[in-house]
Amino acid sequence: MLVEPSHPGNVGAAARALKTMGFSRLVVVAPKIAFVTREPEAIAMASGADDVLASAQVVETLADALTGVHWSIALTARSREYGPPQMAPRAAAEKACEFVGQGHGGNSGAIALVFGNERVGLSNADVERCSALAHIPANPAYSSLNLAQAVQVLAYELRLALLSRADATAAIPAPTSPTISAPSASSDEIEGMYAHLEQALITLDFLDPANPKKLMSRLRRLFSRSGLEHEEVNILRGIAKHILLKIKR
Ligand code: SAH
Repeated sequence: MLVEPSHPGNVGAAARALKTMGFSRLVVVAPKIAFVTREPEAIAMASGADDVLASAQVVETLADALTGVHWSIALTARSREYGPPQMAPRAAAEKACEFVGQGHGGNSGAIALVFGNERVGLSNADVERCSALAHIPANPAYSSLNLAQAVQVLAYELRLALLSRADATAAIPAPTSPTISAPSASSDEIEGMYAHLEQALITLDFLDPANPKKLMSRLRRLFSRSGLEHEEVNILRGIAKHILLKIKR
């Protein structure tokens, strides 16, 4: 997923980076140029990946893009004060593989790599929507890669992780993921929970909407460390619902 990309050439090059690594789903969030996927520069840079470019989905918000996604990695060139747990790209790719193996209809929509705008990167709010944060350990004196090149690095890591997983499954039949058992919550379920929780905390006068400080960011960081399951999100929403009901009475 490319959030607010500015340069059509980068969108095309990202499509090529994905296709060379065996992926086909590109999502563009609020591009700076409408119909960016039809720009001549994008088509030229996509080269033989023009099919991936042409079938790219364009959506308005990252929330829309992450609907149905169960595990997402925010790629950032800068470190962030808040946000989900940081992982090395390789470890993040391996973890992403576990989610692909877990099912969710077996489609690649279960996981997402999220990249920011060429000039400003991802906003803190967008980073906080993701399950993990990853930074390519580049030259500390110049660590900002070109957007499509960052896509290439992560797509390659994901391919390596998927290939080694395929080897492992060939050697040992029927290994369901040992690390993940209960169904994970999707991004939209988790966002719905935060909205519900925030409403309950405001009603309790615990959260002052005029002066929210970093409460919700801290709660997001806490929960993103835990790897929320579908059922756990339901429990938290149940608590929020009962707080709201009790206070209304
Ligand atoms: N000046 C921006 C960098 C934008 S580069 C900033 O300070 O955030 C465009 C995008 O490429 C970034 O948002 C990120 O998704 C990706 N990217 C570039 N370099 C990266 C790195 N070293 N590690 C992880 N992602 C990187």
